[in-house]
Amino acid sequence: MRAQPTASHFINGAYVEDTEGREIECIYPATGEVVAKLHSATPAIIEQALASAKEGQKIWAAMSGTERGRVLRRAALIIEERNHELSVLETLDTGKPMSETLYVDATSGREALEYFGGLAGSVTGEHIQLGQDWVYTVREPLGVCVGIGAWNYPTQIACWKGAPALACGNAMIFKPSETTPICALKVAEILHEAGLPAGVYNVVQGYGDVGAALVTDARVDKVSLTGSVPTGRKVYAAAAEGMKHVTMELGGKSPMIVFDDADIEDAVSGAILGNFYSSGQVCSNGTRVFVQKGIKKAFLKRLKERTEQAVMGDPMDEATNFGPMVSANQMNIVLGYIDKGVDEGAKLITGGKMAQRDGFFIEPTIFADVTDDMTIAREEIFGPVMAVLDFDDEDEVIARANDTEFGLAAGVFTNDLTRAHRVSQAFEAGTCYINTYNLAPVEAPFGGSKASGVGRENSKEAINHYSQVKSVYVGMGPVEAPF
Ligand code: NDP
Repeated sequence: MRAQPTASHFINGAYVEDTEGREIECIYPATGEVVAKLHSATPAIIEQALASAKEGQKIWAAMSGTERGRVLRRAALIIEERNHELSVLETLDTGKPMSETLYVDATSGREALEYFGGLAGSVTGEHIQLGQDWVYTVREPLGVCVGIGAWNYPTQIACWKGAPALACGNAMIFKPSETTPICALKVAEILHEAGLPAGVYNVVQGYGDVGAALVTDARVDKVSLTGSVPTGRKVYAAAAEGMKHVTMELGGKSPMIVFDDADIEDAVSGAILGNFYSSGQVCSNGTRVFVQKGIKKAFLKRLKERTEQAVMGDPMDEATNFGPMVSANQMNIVLGYIDKGVDEGAKLITGGKMAQRDGFFIEPTIFADVTDDMTIAREEIFGPVMAVLDFDDEDEVIARANDTEFGLAAGVFTNDLTRAHRVSQAFEAGTCYINTYNLAPVEAPFGGSKASGVGRENSKEAINHYSQVKSVYVGMGPVEAPF
C-alpha cells in the first residue's frame, strides 16, 4: 500500500519538495509498513511558507466574507465527493478503521468548512451610539496563524483550525504531527482546487523544531496547538514571548459518572465510546469511569461482555471496529501504563495485552477497583485503557472527579433531571455531556479548562479566537481641550 503525496509540503498554492530536510517515514500502524516518505521542512521551506502566507493573507483579507465563505463551502463539496479516497488516506496515516474514517474524519473536516463558510459573511462589528458621537467596531483578521496538529485526527484538526482562521480572513501555516503527515496536504490541495488564493493555506512537515521555528517568527500572529499539556506549556510560553494569540487544545483525564439510576446499556455505550473509539486515542475520553456501588456489578458485567465483542482486524475491512495504536512508540507507552495498573493493584477485567498480529494493536482493556491515587487514574494514557472507580454519593464523586489538573471534558449518566444539570454545573471542564459522550458537533464550542487548554474551537466562539476587535471613535462635534 502506498500513500506517497506529490511532495512533502504545500506552499503558495503548490506542492514543494526539499530533500535536504530530515526524512519522515509514514508508517501504516496496522502492518508496520512504510507507506510514504517525506522530508521535514528546512529553514528555506519555513521561510517560503511564512513569506507566502504573509502575501496571501493580504489578498484573502481584501475579499468579502461572502466570497471567502464560497471558497470554503466549495472545498466542503469536494471533500464530500472524495470522502472514500480521503478516508483511505486517513486510515493509512493513523490506522483507524474505515468503519470510523468513512463517517467521521473527512466528514468532520467538511462540516467545519461548511459551517465557517456559512459564517464568513456575518463576521461583523457593531455600532455604539454615544450621544451625537459614536463608535463602530471592526472585527479584523489576526494575520498569519500557525496550526500545529496532533496525530489522532489529522484531517479534522487541519480543518478545525483552517476553516475558522480562513473564514475570518487569516492565512494559515499548518504543521501536522510527523507521525501522520499525509492528510493535511490533501486539505490544502482541495482548498486550492476550490479557489483559495495561493499562500492562504500552507502545509509544512516537521518535528517539534519546525513548529517551534514557526511559533517564534515575528510574522506569526496566532498559534493554535492540538497536543499534550507539556507541549502546550512550551508553545504557549514561546507564543507569549511575542505576545501572540493562542488556542491550546490539550490533553485530559476526564471523568464519566454513572449513577445507580442510569440506563445501564446507555452508560456502557458511553463508556465504550469514551474509551475505545479510535482505540482510545481521543483527547476528551472519559477515562475515569466512576460507577455508583449499587450498579457496579451489573455495569461491569455488560461492559465486559460488550467490550469483548470488539472486532479487531484489518482497518481496511469495514467490519473491523477496533484498530491499532498510531505507532510502536504509543503502543509501548500504553503497555507501560497497563503494567502499572496491574502493579498498583487494579483488577484487570479484560484485555491487557498486545494482540497476536502484525501492527501496533492492544486489546481493549478494562480495570476495575481503581483508586484515585493510582497512576492509571491520574495520567493521560491515550490508549484503550479504561479505569472504573467506585463511589457512594454525589458530593464525594464530584470532588473526586474534579481532583485533577485537567479540565477538558466530563460526563454524567443519570435519569434524575435536576441531578444531571447540578452535576454538569459542578464539573470543572470545558465540554460536558449528559447521558451521552464524546460528540463534538461543529456548532458547539469545544475545548478545555484548567491545564487542558485555552480558547475554544468550533462554533461562533472560534470566530472570536481568530479575529480581533478594532474600535473606531467618531467625533461629530467640536473638539474640546483643557487649554
Ligand atoms: P504532542 O504534544 O507530542 O505534539 C503535538 C504537536 O506539537 C506535534 O505536531 C509536535 O510535533 C508539535 N511540537 C512538539 N514540540 C513542539 C514545540 N516545542 N514547539 C512547537 N511544536 C511542537 O502531542 P501528540 O501528537 O503526541 O498528540 C497527543 C496529545 O494531543 C494528547 O495529549 C492529547 O490529549 C492531545 N490532544 C488534544 C486534543 C484536544 O482537542 N484537546 C485533541 C487531540 C489530541 P512532533 O510530533 O513532530 O513532535
